Amino acid sequence: MEGDYETGIGAEKEPALYARGYSMGHMRNRNEFLVAKAMEEVIPEYSPICECAMCVEDIFALSLNSLPAKYQHSMSIDIHKKATYEEVCKKVKESVELVRKKPKHT
Ligand SMILES: [Zn+2]
Repeated sequence: MEGDYETGIGAEKEPALYARGYSMGHMRNRNEFLVAKAMEEVIPEYSPICECAMCVEDIFALSLNSLPAKYQHSMSIDIHKKATYEEVCKKVKESVELVRKKPKHT
């Protein structure tokens, strides 16, 4: 499977990300960590659901895409309001329900 350009999920090797000579590869969307954490908590509540790589990646991507992107430069302190964990859990639950109803495979 080709890596998803937007999320980087499934990419075998990530291409180096440079802008004006600086590596941007360390800049992560902070919601990625919150979504991953929320998935650990939320998915067992829906068990049993299909937890193949495709479905799990789909839940991750859907959740992230439904949240506003939050990128932050590496030297800043956190001054912007990020999505609350409750908000992220809600999005993850919606994503789980979507993927459960309509998995990308049969
Ligand atoms: Zn699956």
